[in-house]
Amino acid sequence: MSENKPCNECGGTSFGTGEIKGYGAVIPSHKILSNGSPLILNICTNCGLVNSLRVKYPEKFKKKQ
Ligand SMILES: [Zn+2]
Repeated sequence: MSENKPCNECGGTSFGTGEIKGYGAVIPSHKILSNGSPLILNICTNCGLVNSLRVKYPEKFKKKQ
């Protein structure tokens, strides 16, 4: 997963990053008491396509064995 691959929509190679916080945070569905994790967006600065979307703290979504 390279962040430098061209945009699927316009082929542009300039990307910016954004972060969704607060009400947009993703909460692990198996944890009732959790602060969740902000979402990190990789956005094509040419056409605005969101190229990738990921949580900032993926370890929060691991299920306990
Ligand atoms: Zn684009």
